[in-house]
Amino acid sequence: MSIAELSFRDRPINMDAKGSRKWVYAKKPSGKWYRRRTLFSWFLLLFWIAVPWIRVNENPLILLDIANRKFIIFGAIFWAQDTFILALLMLSFVLFIVLFTVTFGRIWCGWACPQTIFLEMIFRKIEYLIEGDYKKRYKLDQGPWTGEKILKKTLKHGLFIFIAIAMTNVFLMWFTGSERWLELVREPFRQNLSGFIVMIVVSGVFYWIYSFFREQVCTMVCPYGRMQGVLLDSNSIVVSYDYKRGEPRGTKNEGDCIDCHQCVSVCPTGIDIRNGTQLECINCTACIDQCNKIMHITNKAPGLIRYASEKTIKEGHASVWNTRNRAYSVVLLVIFSFFIYTFVSRPVIETTILRTPGLLFQENGDNTISNVYNLTIVNKTHEEMPLEIRLLSHKGRIQMAGNSMIVKDQGRFESTFILFIPKEELNSDKTEVEFGIFNNNELIETYKATFVSP
Ligand code: SF4
Ligand code: SF4
Repeated sequence: MSIAELSFRDRPINMDAKGSRKWVYAKKPSGKWYRRRTLFSWFLLLFWIAVPWIRVNENPLILLDIANRKFIIFGAIFWAQDTFILALLMLSFVLFIVLFTVTFGRIWCGWACPQTIFLEMIFRKIEYLIEGDYKKRYKLDQGPWTGEKILKKTLKHGLFIFIAIAMTNVFLMWFTGSERWLELVREPFRQNLSGFIVMIVVSGVFYWIYSFFREQVCTMVCPYGRMQGVLLDSNSIVVSYDYKRGEPRGTKNEGDCIDCHQCVSVCPTGIDIRNGTQLECINCTACIDQCNKIMHITNKAPGLIRYASEKTIKEGHASVWNTRNRAYSVVLLVIFSFFIYTFVSRPVIETTILRTPGLLFQENGDNTISNVYNLTIVNKTHEEMPLEIRLLSHKGRIQMAGNSMIVKDQGRFESTFILFIPKEELNSDKTEVEFGIFNNNELIETYKATFVSP
């Protein structure tokens, strides 16, 4: 192998010896695996667009309302008070991805990662349609600015900008919900100027990523891609070149690989899979399809490049299950079970009672001491709840600001109340008091707070 061919060990393939970007002109993929990925990507894209419009109990299927600290995931609502439960869910998701990576390599990158789906299934398809396959695109880019080139580039980048804006709007809906998004669209943009500027910036970033930065997200930026070195092992099923069958390569040699470089031409990250598993490989399967076509032409069995573990290629057989992924599965099962338990057993309401900051106590003429409290109650059910607060630990009385404590479904109730306790009930300057929250005379939650007195 020449030094130039070995350079993949020193630097990303899309970078020259001086560190400058080398543009990847990937051949248009086609074949069985590409068709499967295309179908799956349509399903994911449809799901992504539909989510803010799908309703479960009148709520969006998924809503990440950061401003109101309210998250809805498949109809289940999580408030700021549920951060621990949400963290368990996120941890389960991360572990699931890790388990999948250990077992099936970067299947996520090739099949489900938004970066791959947007780039390969939307932006590149538009590019192929307008500018043609890789040789035509290369010629167009290298050629002079003719009328045809200006027209093609304007059309392509115009569509890219339009799609980038559309993408930003769909993502916005995930954070605001479709109803609020419709309101925002109808309102004069001066009313939401800062939000409008953020939208322009995000759209600009999307446009820049999918027009220029492209595969470098996977090869240089993505932290998940960087972790492959520690996640993958010889048992992981990845897109692999069967070197035992393929080598020695070349038309005059005995190996099945005819060294046609078609697997390299089609690769969106520009790598040669015959060099072994590399961090730049996003497991997109394009080289499998391309090599299978060559195998068909040369009358050889398909699968010279295929999904296989290093062990399978080396020893001819391997089991999907091994100690490592069994251990991850157990950890995942434990954490996910804990999440289910905490989620199912979480209280129907979440109460917070804190003494009003800056106020101490008041001595009253009726021989009582009073403290002022701020009360917040979050109703996690889908029903409106009439509630009542009572003091459980001492004799005393509560005077609410306002008459009723009716908390709307999925709503938040905020109010203030004064607690009066007779002096003889108090024997310290700081007393722990316990409140009970009642719904139709049924105690549903208790809360402890501090009462200060002279
Ligand atoms: S496409 Fe197949 S035959 Fe051609 S170089 Fe790649 S591995 Fe060898
Ligand atoms: S080596 Fe094959 S599977 Fe990996 S990114 Fe390139 S074309 Fe896709």
